[in-house]
Amino acid sequence: MFTLTIKRTALFAALHILVPLVLATSESQVSLSSLSSNSYNQPHLSSTFDNGYDDVDFDEPRLVRFIVEDWHGDAVMLEEPVWVTERVKLDSKRTGDGYIDITEHPNYNPSRYSAAPSPTHVYHPPNSTIVPQILPLLSTQEQRSNLEIFTSFHTRYYKSKTGHASSRWLYQRVLNYTSEYATDALREAVGIELVLYEHKGFKQESVIIRLIPRRSLNSSESVERLHEITIIGAHCDSINNENPFYRSPGADDDGSGTITILEAYRAILQNGYVPLSPLEFHFYAAEEGGLLGSLDISDAYVKAGKDVRGMIEFDMTAWVAAGRPEEIGVVMNGADLALSKYTKLLIEKYLDIPWIETRYPGRAASDYMAWTMAGYQSSHVLEGAWEGVNNGNHHQVTDSIDVSPEFSFEHIMRFTRLAVAFAVELSSY
Ligand SMILES: [Zn+2]
Repeated sequence: MFTLTIKRTALFAALHILVPLVLATSESQVSLSSLSSNSYNQPHLSSTFDNGYDDVDFDEPRLVRFIVEDWHGDAVMLEEPVWVTERVKLDSKRTGDGYIDITEHPNYNPSRYSAAPSPTHVYHPPNSTIVPQILPLLSTQEQRSNLEIFTSFHTRYYKSKTGHASSRWLYQRVLNYTSEYATDALREAVGIELVLYEHKGFKQESVIIRLIPRRSLNSSESVERLHEITIIGAHCDSINNENPFYRSPGADDDGSGTITILEAYRAILQNGYVPLSPLEFHFYAAEEGGLLGSLDISDAYVKAGKDVRGMIEFDMTAWVAAGRPEEIGVVMNGADLALSKYTKLLIEKYLDIPWIETRYPGRAASDYMAWTMAGYQSSHVLEGAWEGVNNGNHHQVTDSIDVSPEFSFEHIMRFTRLAVAFAVELSSY
């Protein structure tokens, strides 16, 4: 689906064309007869706002693996694969039963579920002289104006027209920043790839930014095999649990994470920072559909033999619940122990609020788990301890910037500092 070629031009945009999706194999016909019964009879599951594509089908069979409700320790546990309809998926999401959707990866077999210390990347104590130069470039005003536009799309649901348009807007924003801030000197030193990453089965794209030191490009060997990649991630879709075509601003989930890493990228570019190993920013499509975007991408990295030094995900970075201390939640379940520990060191060095360990309860899931299950080291930071997370509004029309003073651009800025620190410290060797 996706072949990476390193172009020697300073900047290029790659639009990857897909073969048409074919569901009518004998295997899927057999599966159709064993679909779970349809308990989801909401009448409006259609293009209420003329916001759908013709191919949106809520009776479509999907292969999912639910997350086991009682995790053992900090390992991600999955139930056996089961075929359900898209309707059942939506219904399950509404009741909090999380899953990953492996329809495009039917033989998906995670190589790693937990924080078990199998990968062995080395994380040096944070000591960058460049991070302190970049932090003053960060702009809350820039973030606010980006989030106002990003939340003005009716929904960023991955099967909707506005969800597709929102990803195109994000891509264009990244393109504009790159044109504006990447100097000739930087382009001499770093190859910059901007990728609009297409997925099978829905039109919303993921957006990937790759900064590749040119000293690697001069090698005759594959650059991916030469260097360990640092990945900064967030998801760019949103959803309304009542009906995916209803209004869903997704300001906190995960507009906040999106503008967190977008601003980190902008400031790093503005500084002219030259990484010594590959540095990437990933904006995943369709996280709310069962990690569809991150599963596709992490699986492609495994198949391409890429080595990832560390991945961090920013999913919900805006909320400081009334009466609770302002903290950075470090999610421990499904994350890598060594990288989570390193993330805490970065918080201690570069932020003036503390971290707190927290855990997803029950069946919650997010994109970092796709990277863990692909065998890579990942960590995940959250707006606070789980008990104080913005669960009253997320996946609803009320997940907006102005719903409450608890929505804090200052809090987002702290995560943005962390994103810069993680990106620069890990790509400086
Ligand atoms: Zn989210």
